[in-house]
Amino acid sequence: MKISSKLLNVIRQNKSFLIVCHINPEGDAIGSISALALGLKQMGKKDIFVLSKDGVPEILKFLPFSGLIKKKAPKKEFDVLCIVDCNTLERTGFKELKAKHTVIIDHHIPPDDADKSELYRQLAASVIDPGAAAAGILIYKLLAALKISIDKNMAANLYTALLVDTGGFRYSNTSHEALKIACHLIRAGARPWDLAKELYESIPFKSMKLLGLSLATLDKKDGIAWINTTADMFRKTGTTAEDSEDFVDFPRKVKDIEVAVFFREDDNNVFKLSLRSKGKVNVEKIAKSFGGGGHFAAAGCKIKGTLQEVQKKVFEEVRKAIKDAK
Ligand code: 5GP
Ligand code: MN
Repeated sequence: MKISSKLLNVIRQNKSFLIVCHINPEGDAIGSISALALGLKQMGKKDIFVLSKDGVPEILKFLPFSGLIKKKAPKKEFDVLCIVDCNTLERTGFKELKAKHTVIIDHHIPPDDADKSELYRQLAASVIDPGAAAAGILIYKLLAALKISIDKNMAANLYTALLVDTGGFRYSNTSHEALKIACHLIRAGARPWDLAKELYESIPFKSMKLLGLSLATLDKKDGIAWINTTADMFRKTGTTAEDSEDFVDFPRKVKDIEVAVFFREDDNNVFKLSLRSKGKVNVEKIAKSFGGGGHFAAAGCKIKGTLQEVQKKVFEEVRKAIKDAK
């Protein structure tokens, strides 16, 4: 998808920028907002505020610029609000963010009723491309269209965005475009092994212990594989939700299943689910039926109830989806 001149003009013609990503951010979210901020700085924009409701996960703190990301919304009004790697205000975790113009740069499918929402009615411009492997691809295209020369700090952020959202260039979204851009980013100074080492070979010991406890719950039935992480496991290992970031990858590895689910206990009787598809089942539809969202092959939602109740409800929906997909 091409970046519209409308979007380029909104950026060129304004001075102050408030950039925000989604709650529970990962490498694509943090990498994308950081690269955008660095790019705007290179254009000479001085007033840039970068916001992430849940801050920066420990494992991503090595990324250039990430130390400047704030958790609290500023009081003042900005010229432009850039919503990145999500497409609703709700997903940013903030109720209200003040700006004269709002733009969305994202690769998620917008909610069905998006057009009717206040946010979409007042959008100055946007690039929403569910075909893009990562929001980082859209930021890369935006920076290129703005004739910004990608330096090594932007490259490290964008390469991380691509690497994380394609699962290390393995998932079905690993496209010609993604690899071509990754190649440009390496030429611009991104160092694949240094970045991979930070992301995949620097896991805190306590997170591995949490994985051990969680993996012990691995189970499989009717084409579904799943694991659970309970509040008790977090307590025992002194860990938090961000230590379980990629846990859903483990049930997904199981042979002969269609859908993997990770149940994470966030609160008493509140579970955050990560759903992953092996290619046939649209898990975004399942997540949406529980008030969440995401992509065809990776989606999430929150459900209230005991673990047993939540699993019963979810497995019923997944079983139906597997049957329909056949
Ligand atoms: P994860 O399972 O890693 O949290 O998320 C997988 C994908 O689904 C990501 O693209 C994420 O942004 C999206 N996602 C996760 N949880 C939610 C949710 O509660 N609502 C929506 N709309 N998207 C979600
Ligand atoms: Mn993303």
